[in-house]
Amino acid sequence: MAVESVTGTTVTAAVRTASAEGDQADFGRIRNDLLGSWKDIRLAARARTLDPALHQRADLRVAEHRARVTAQLQVLLDSGAVRLPFPEQYGGSGDAGGNLVAFEELATADPSLQIKAGVQWGLFAAAILHLGTRYHHEHFLADAIELQTFGGFAMTETGHGSDVASIATTATFDPATEEFVIDTPFRAAWKDYIGNAAVDAKAAVVFAQLVTLGERQGVHAFFVPIRDAAGAFLPGVGGEDDGPKSGLNGVDNGRLHFTGVRVPRANLLNRYGEVAPDGTYSSPIASQGRRFFTMLGTLVQGRVSLAGAANTAAKIALQIAITYAEQRRQFAAANGDEEVLLDYPRHQRRLLTRLAGVYAATYTQDELLLDFHRVFTGEHDTDDSRQELENFAAAAKAEATWHALDTIQECREACGGAGFLAENRFGQLHADIDVYATFEGDNTVLLQLVGKRLLTQYGKRLKAAGPAGAARIVGGHTVGAIAASAGLTALVQRVADGGTPSGAARSLREPSVQEQLLTERVEVAVAEIAPALRPAPGVSAEQLAARFGEHQHALIEAARAEARLRQWKAFTRAVERETHAPTKALLALVRDVFALTTIERDLGWYLTRRRMSVSRAKAVTRLLDALVRRMRPHALDLVEAFGYEQGHLRAAIASGAEARRQDEARAAR
Ligand SMILES: Cc1cc2nc3c(=O)[nH]c(=O)nc-3n(C[C@H](O)[C@H](O)[C@H](O)COP(=O)(O)OP(=O)(O)OC[C@H]3O[C@@H](n4cnc5c(N)ncnc54)[C@H](O)[C@@H]3O)c2cc1C
Repeated sequence: MAVESVTGTTVTAAVRTASAEGDQADFGRIRNDLLGSWKDIRLAARARTLDPALHQRADLRVAEHRARVTAQLQVLLDSGAVRLPFPEQYGGSGDAGGNLVAFEELATADPSLQIKAGVQWGLFAAAILHLGTRYHHEHFLADAIELQTFGGFAMTETGHGSDVASIATTATFDPATEEFVIDTPFRAAWKDYIGNAAVDAKAAVVFAQLVTLGERQGVHAFFVPIRDAAGAFLPGVGGEDDGPKSGLNGVDNGRLHFTGVRVPRANLLNRYGEVAPDGTYSSPIASQGRRFFTMLGTLVQGRVSLAGAANTAAKIALQIAITYAEQRRQFAAANGDEEVLLDYPRHQRRLLTRLAGVYAATYTQDELLLDFHRVFTGEHDTDDSRQELENFAAAAKAEATWHALDTIQECREACGGAGFLAENRFGQLHADIDVYATFEGDNTVLLQLVGKRLLTQYGKRLKAAGPAGAARIVGGHTVGAIAASAGLTALVQRVADGGTPSGAARSLREPSVQEQLLTERVEVAVAEIAPALRPAPGVSAEQLAARFGEHQHALIEAARAEARLRQWKAFTRAVERETHAPTKALLALVRDVFALTTIERDLGWYLTRRRMSVSRAKAVTRLLDALVRRMRPHALDLVEAFGYEQGHLRAAIASGAEARRQDEARAAR
């Protein structure tokens, strides 16, 4: 491979020291590992999504698409897969992780189907299961699971989406009748965007401020019937259709409002808060805030599954675009033939760096699913493990959904005009996945939570370390002397790199160097922000809030870096567990492409903090160019290792049609 032609020779030499590993790599092993911990369930789900009856059709109007998706839910129910996470008496096996694996694969058929299923079983039925108690399970759960009651999960209001604690719908207890009275006080408090609410839902889990004996007890969930059997709103309930959306039009999202709607006291989903017949409130969790976050935490599966589903969509897009890029030719090559698109270094940069990101997200997702499974099966369910899971899910969801959107768009452009045709799917996939960045927690807001946790953990570490230990917490240097130490860092790098570009390239392929750089990106940023946000005597709440605002962008960027560090670690663990040397070497190459892409994106940060020497910074880009070129011969094998078939891809340009056209044109010349 002519690496020399596109890179500096010194870098090339460093790259060439790695063996031609990909030639002997075992893609069967890679495929097996990518299928993850619930391989059989994943394969069964993929076999199901080959059924044309489940596939999205481009020719349907909104009402037809909705009706088709509603009917498809029955196919999923008949398969039994959707019962997996529920207790045995409801036909399940408590397989929390396996359920999400099956769910994320639905994205290949139609993301609307995935989201509609998510609304019915992952939100509506799951809220009854997790927020309710025995009474609710006995009265409502079987009908929700068996599609006898279609339901909505009515949390968001037009006025409050990200800040759910501030919703304004009220549920006021009336001791005289032992009922809750649900009310929408003003237009901004209408429930909005609620899946199933426009047409199908007969009931909803409605989130409202619980008021009893004149006191507010915070947000709680209530089981509220909303329509009669004929589909008419029940007295006091109103609403409207959200209408056509930019994507996901197979889901009927709608608005709901309530005027004096009465439900029995027992309809309060009372796992975390109870009202006695006389109106007395009690809860196992004293703090309203903690109670609310505990309730939300039980529904973390939505975030976990969106991360996986978005990554599934990115895989489909990459397999289509890379297959096409292997066949499509444009402009004369030096050898007189026309150049294959994927032989252009820029095309490799566009597609293969994103392919490396999808590999990273895949290994991360499996770790997230395992953590989720351990918490939700009770195998490892503590306060700490729940908080860590929520944090992991927030980081993974934000990173995977953004990466998927970026990847699908790049794949679309990489296929030129053909990429814009509906028959090649990119436009619809992007339109459908678009909102994954917003619902189940807006990505920016989620990363802010991750950032706040980083600050908390940093504070705890400082406190635990005491004054002497604190001096060594950040990258081996004193917290207060980061700037002073930065020049030293650059010097140390120059020494480690032997002062040469090839030395820099070699060291940048060292996992320990990558880990240090990626870790510093998080830890130094947090150490820079933390002192300004520490409460201190004489600093008012307003001043602290203003300071937080000043550092918000930097904190969210640090959280994103944390999400990528987690991905790097998951990828590195996958490399380490591979025992077949050539396969391991190829995976290490892809991991290195992921690491360098991540580091390159932040070069400005590293340089302005003097956490990287200029020579090493230059080497990052040169080495990355060289490594994607080294990845190039294996690109098709790497996407085919995802294991999808033509029935999943369903794109004309991934069917071999372009290769046939090229052959015909050549024969005619
Ligand atoms: C198709 C679809 C389906 C949905 N399904 C449901 C459902 O079934 N049930 C349900 O309850 N909800 C549902 N939602 C609602 C969804 O969860 C909310 O849209 C989401 O939580 C965001 O809230 P918002 O729209 O009010 O945006 P906002 O919270 O107003 O956010 C708008 C923008 O402001 C930014 N922002 C907000 N706060 C901050 C901050 N503190 N700092 C910096 N930036 C900030 C956000 O990043 C975002 O970019 C759905 C939404 C859609 C579009």
